[in-house]
Amino acid sequence: MKSSSYNNTRWRKLRLLKLQEQPLCEYCLHKGKIKEATQVDHIIPFKDSDDLMYEYDNLLSTCARCHQEITITQQHLSFEGLSFDEARTFKISHIKREVSPSGYYI
Ligand SMILES: [Zn+2]
Repeated sequence: MKSSSYNNTRWRKLRLLKLQEQPLCEYCLHKGKIKEATQVDHIIPFKDSDDLMYEYDNLLSTCARCHQEITITQQHLSFEGLSFDEARTFKISHIKREVSPSGYYI
């Protein structure tokens, strides 16, 4: 039986653990910004795979805005053959870096 639903205790516990361990948005950190993470993203989309859904190494802490952006971006990415670590670096590098008019990353 598939349990790929966010509405279960196992997921809620895992999500909480991730946000406690990494309370900052990992995408924003890449942009040089400090922002509180409110959501947890799966690095490799889990689709129907419970293994990916509940794999701690497959999780990224994210803010709502970055999550939205990366969800669209990741449709064009392939994670085939990548380890979780490689996939994490690959995915984070695809978040848009915002540059302020003065040329500094904001
Ligand atoms: Zn963010």
